Amino acid sequence: MATETLRRSGIKELLVATNLDREVLVKGWVRTRRGNKYVQFIALNDGSTIHNLQVVASAELFPEENLKDVATGASVAVRGTLVASQGKGQTVEIQALEITVLGKADPEEYPLQKKGHSLEFLREIAHLRPRTNTFGAVLRVRHALAFAVHEYFNKNGFYYVHTPIITGSDAEGAGQMFRVTTLAPEHPPRTADGSVDFSEDFFGKPTNLTVSGQLEGEIAAMALGKIYTFGPTFRAENSNTARHLAEFWMIEPEMAFYELEDNMDLAEDFLKSLVRYALAHCADDLQFLNDQYDKELLVRLNSVVETEFQRLTYTEAVEILKTAKQKFEFPVGWGTDLQSEHERYLVEKHFKKPVILTDYPKEVKSFYMKLNEDGRTVRAMDVLFPGIGEIIGGSQREEDYTKLITRMAEMHVPAEDLWWYLDLRKFGTAPHSGFGLGFERLVLFVTGMANIRDVIPFPRYPKNAAF
Ligand code: ATP
Ligand code: MN
Repeated sequence: MATETLRRSGIKELLVATNLDREVLVKGWVRTRRGNKYVQFIALNDGSTIHNLQVVASAELFPEENLKDVATGASVAVRGTLVASQGKGQTVEIQALEITVLGKADPEEYPLQKKGHSLEFLREIAHLRPRTNTFGAVLRVRHALAFAVHEYFNKNGFYYVHTPIITGSDAEGAGQMFRVTTLAPEHPPRTADGSVDFSEDFFGKPTNLTVSGQLEGEIAAMALGKIYTFGPTFRAENSNTARHLAEFWMIEPEMAFYELEDNMDLAEDFLKSLVRYALAHCADDLQFLNDQYDKELLVRLNSVVETEFQRLTYTEAVEILKTAKQKFEFPVGWGTDLQSEHERYLVEKHFKKPVILTDYPKEVKSFYMKLNEDGRTVRAMDVLFPGIGEIIGGSQREEDYTKLITRMAEMHVPAEDLWWYLDLRKFGTAPHSGFGLGFERLVLFVTGMANIRDVIPFPRYPKNAAF
């Protein structure tokens, strides 16, 4: 049979095929070629799975000098017979009949010629790192989790809403937003008093990249009931940490008629279902990451799925931290925000399971969180995960017009910019709640990678926007 008439098979399906001794066509990238003067073994990967397909090229058909270009990194098409493997480590292999090099990769130049590059080095070749086992695994897990997010919400009656990426309200997180403008930085138009004249800007006013879709999400929740957003968010905060990106994806469900308890129940069920999905659908990739990077990974993932999250108030957590034997870099006291070291102590040392902290002091949280009767705390909830710290931040929202406008004034949030947000409290207001899950923090947790820059294809962080 000629190559043209054969349909190409994916390596993932061939590796589990049961109908053998037939001719197949595969295309992929050479991971390695080794062998002796009688036979050459080519490990071929096409990205469909972490596993390679072994191609056996006998010296009779393929003298070694003819295989020079079949080198690590090259793309090839192989026509051959799918047979049961005689060797260890794979159940099937291909006895090659025809090998065509589609694209060469000069071994002298190809950066992935050698194995064992550091993750730091791989960040500098973000265009090639998806071809490594590690990033292949991470990207497939990332895909599976994104799919699971949509599947979960769709199954549970949530509607997917698209909130704007360019926003005209800088109410939340002013000072850490990226500006969006078409004005020339050297010579912006100026008003009589010398300040920049934004009326001449593209939108006729200052605009920014969004830090969260929540406020607009609330609009949709107050009409559709249960909604979620899943989109890119941008924060110009100068946090050079292993858990912060300047551009990251956030999942934000928002639900009318949900109180804080309902919100916590949803967050817990949602997270468990996502981890369960990954365990069920990414077994090979997770096994690889477990063996390669983090021997506790699978144990940890399974334990999160099986354990009930510990729920307690901020005030109770502060009491625990105050009596902890461990020395903290930052002191703990009622009224200050918890640092990552405190969060991780609670999760990893004290409770040894995920924790949901609620009812934080109003001063450390945003203006829109519902005030408790005590007048000092708000109905906030942070979900804290082992190895990560905060993975979710959420709250019940203030639905009372008078209380909301009072909080806005206290926190210097301009009411005139958020007139539409206040309107939601004037017309048919209702208790409602929601939260934000940082998608990369979730991928970080599920893959067991140590740095958030290694779970997104093109990480943006201070002084880095290459590619
Ligand atoms: P942190 O205290 O960890 O900086 P935050 O309290 O500023 O986070 P929120 O505004 O509550 O974050 O955002 C909701 C979620 O988005 C967080 O729980 C986290 O999972 C994620 N997140 C926030 N900032 C970042 C970032 N810079 N990079 C990646 N994920 C982030
Ligand atoms: Mn938060």
